[in-house]
Amino acid sequence: MKEKIEKFLMDILNPQLPMRIRFFNICTLGGTAGALLATIAPIISGVNSTFGLILSSLTAVFFFSLFLIGHNTGKNELCIMVGVIGLNFIIYPLLYFSMGGIEGGMVLYFVMGIVFTLLLLDFKSALIIFPLEIAEYSLIFYLGEKHPGLFSTIDVYRENIVLDIALDFFIVSLTTFFVIKILYNAYEDQAKRADKLVQELEKLSTTDPLTKLYNRRFLMQAIETEIIKSKREKYKFSIIMFDVDKFKSVNDTYGHIIGDEVLISFAKILSSHVREYDTVARYGGEEFMILLPNSNEEAAFSRAEEIRRDVESSELCTSMHIPITVSGGVASYDELTMITVEDLTSVADTYLYESKENGRNRITWRDNSHGLHK
Ligand code: GH3
Ligand code: MG
Ligand code: MG
Repeated sequence: MKEKIEKFLMDILNPQLPMRIRFFNICTLGGTAGALLATIAPIISGVNSTFGLILSSLTAVFFFSLFLIGHNTGKNELCIMVGVIGLNFIIYPLLYFSMGGIEGGMVLYFVMGIVFTLLLLDFKSALIIFPLEIAEYSLIFYLGEKHPGLFSTIDVYRENIVLDIALDFFIVSLTTFFVIKILYNAYEDQAKRADKLVQELEKLSTTDPLTKLYNRRFLMQAIETEIIKSKREKYKFSIIMFDVDKFKSVNDTYGHIIGDEVLISFAKILSSHVREYDTVARYGGEEFMILLPNSNEEAAFSRAEEIRRDVESSELCTSMHIPITVSGGVASYDELTMITVEDLTSVADTYLYESKENGRNRITWRDNSHGLHK
């Protein structure tokens, strides 16, 4: 039983449902419960009002039918419209006269009717219905005032007006409280889901799907930030660019799947050699880069050497022995000769090219280069 109720609640309050539909479910069920209460309470307390009983029981049937139709056919928009119009233009006027006109406390319910109109209808429809309601209520007040005997055939079952109004005030306040609470919770729910989605999207847009390292877009942004910081605080940062040697022949000999496995293993080795605040990224196909904040070229070079030696002595493929080596180029940011991110990466790229030219499986930087950057 408890499970069934939980499942039912989950079904009608499902956060996946649009907020207005959830709200429609709550309002129609709440309306049913309220109308049932209004039917039963007078019977228990011995108040004799046939019209009141018929009206409240019909209201309960009306709301529950709307809920069932909306829930089972999915025609929620139509049901919302019928509900709002039925409540404001039929049920409320009848209640108004049966409860003794303006002194009966119905004015408070009119305010709730307007709140429901604005909450449940889409804004365009609300803009049409809202002025009609104001006109209708004004007409009702006018009729009630000018022709007090108009509905005198209806049995007025209200006896203690002050107590009745106090009770109505209490009911309307409580309903308002729940309406706002439910709305607020739904809003919070939605905001949390949006936040989570944004985080997931951010992660997706900065991650390389194969190696789970950062992608080139993230790396470029990180270097950009480092350049600004370096200019402001006059501190050194370096990059290491790696490229897997003869990787095409790995693919050609063992296939792409094995090639992928090698890339993933290399990414793991790279990650195991960096500090928390370094950035490891996949720069392109089999090219990787590490951004080392607060490191000079010498420190970056020795880190690159450690990685090169680790790769040389590791098995990057679990199923068979494939000798893998990597080449690298190291560069530090120099405010005097570099302006853009590309100015820096092109120096590392030139040293990497030199490593390839000189036989691969080596790291080149300013100190051991024989090329232009000496
Ligand atoms: P070098 O030592 O000069 O770098 O030679 P190389 O063969 O590594 O260089 P080349 O640029 O000719 O080949 C790179 C290869 O990397 C070609 C491409 O098919 C492969 N590759 C790029 N991305 C991926 C990937 O995601 N998975 C696999 N398996 N292969 C990739
Ligand atoms: Mg390459
Ligand atoms: Mg290569």
